[in-house]
Amino acid sequence: MPKAAYAAVRIVAPYLVLGILWIYVSDQALLLAVGGDVDRLGRLQTFKGWLFISITTAMLFLLSYSHLRRIHRLQELDTQTGLLHRRLFLDYLDDTLERESDANQLLVLILNIDDYGGVATRLGKAASERVLEQIGDHLRASFTADCLLSRLGTDEVAIAVPLATPREREKPLPVALRARGTFLQPLLDAGCRATACGGAALFPRDGGDANTLLAAASSALRAAHSRGPDHVNFYDDRLSRADRQRQDLSQRLREAIEDDALYVHYQPQARLSDNMPSGCEALVRWTGTDGRAISPADFIPVAEQFDLTRALSERVIGRVIADLAAAGLTDGSLPRISINLTPDEFARGDFVEWLQAQLAPMAHWPIKPQIEITEYAALRDLEASIRRIRELGECGIDFALDDFGTGYSSLASLRDLPVQELKIDQSFIATVNEDRRSLAIVKSITRLADTFGLRVVAEGVETEAQLERVRECYCDESQGFFLSPPLEISDFASLLRKGGPLRPQRDS
Ligand code: C2E
Ligand code: CA
Ligand code: CA
Repeated sequence: MPKAAYAAVRIVAPYLVLGILWIYVSDQALLLAVGGDVDRLGRLQTFKGWLFISITTAMLFLLSYSHLRRIHRLQELDTQTGLLHRRLFLDYLDDTLERESDANQLLVLILNIDDYGGVATRLGKAASERVLEQIGDHLRASFTADCLLSRLGTDEVAIAVPLATPREREKPLPVALRARGTFLQPLLDAGCRATACGGAALFPRDGGDANTLLAAASSALRAAHSRGPDHVNFYDDRLSRADRQRQDLSQRLREAIEDDALYVHYQPQARLSDNMPSGCEALVRWTGTDGRAISPADFIPVAEQFDLTRALSERVIGRVIADLAAAGLTDGSLPRISINLTPDEFARGDFVEWLQAQLAPMAHWPIKPQIEITEYAALRDLEASIRRIRELGECGIDFALDDFGTGYSSLASLRDLPVQELKIDQSFIATVNEDRRSLAIVKSITRLADTFGLRVVAEGVETEAQLERVRECYCDESQGFFLSPPLEISDFASLLRKGGPLRPQRDS
């Protein structure tokens, strides 16, 4: 029988039993009570009707009340662990904080299992699911009713614990470590030597409301993770200073985007067979108000964190199109231009339409537009990536996998990705002549690319010896300071106009 039908039967069963008993017993009892007095029988029948309705109404109320309450409670709780959902945790925590005076301290702790992916693989799917349930049970059994427990993610929980004694208030770390021990116990019991990182914040020191405290604890957790596995960090003001700096940078970046203060440099790429220019990579540039250049390696991650990547790319692509047109490079002298996009941009649902619209002005130019994304971006949702890259390929847009070799590319998935180019990460090129493992990686990438019919670009070529070596390894093209740094559009255009192969920097 389906579960819902069974539950419904359980609800109506008491009513049925009462009804049958009532029919059998009540009339008999009435007849016995009144003897032959018909008037009294009529009055008592009416009274009996009222009594029946009152009893059944009360029963119906109790039954529906208890079932609705259970449904509500289930909605408030995570079904697997029985812990609170994040929203309710925050609400309850705010209620608690309102009742607490500032003299009473409270610890808010977030715990996260290190390398949960590895743990789940070692335990297997069923056992790891079971362990998560047991973690919930064990936490609920171990903490008193004045503590709040919440599940924030697959392998992440938040715990709010009042610091009851002066000793705990003075030294809250042992409380956090004990909580971590409790959290990990079911994993140890399952024979899995797992560790966890923790981030902790203190009320009232680090915040007066639930949201602020949880944000402080997650900032502390990030710091703990960055120190490696098995660390517990308390929120500290220096962290908030780092957060504030990032926020400040994001604000300045937002303004720079709005004021169109970003510009683009172009780094030539050359065929290894004859050093003739084959294309270029567009690299965004930003000069701060103090006249100093701010590196994209610093501000692109901030753009990602503060959701500015799309606005930034729109400016970059707009600038590239304006630069190429103004420099007269739409005459066929530039075969290809590569533009970098971040994983979050690539993952957006409207990516295909958005990119088509951005590149529309180039549609009839003899310049091949190419998008560089990392392997990580492409493999995050392989099916969707294949669809997107194929669809854009039909509109004449190529794709390159950037920083290739550093991610977790599965070769099988590479087979299915309809990209045109692999860019070997700079770190392998930098050591290609000293480290045999780098050389082996470069060689295996070119062999693989050959099988799949992909172009290989060696990035970060800084010396003649590296250029020679990547040529020997059958890379198709090179890019790097040896042949040219990224250039302003006017310098880049004159380089192309000069014609002929790219010459090493020292010759120029
Ligand atoms: P990337 O895509 O790997 O770009 C290549 C980086 O290597 C560039 O740094 C370039 O200036 C530098 N480079 C070129 N040749 C050499 C060399 O021979 N030796 C060394 N050591 N480095 C070389 P840049 O311009 O500072 O950019 C850093 C990263 O920022 C880029 O790495 C890319 O991931 C990101 N980025 C740059 N422009 C954009 C953009 O417009 N949009 C997005 N989303 N990301 C961008
Ligand atoms: Ca790139
Ligand atoms: Ca790269």
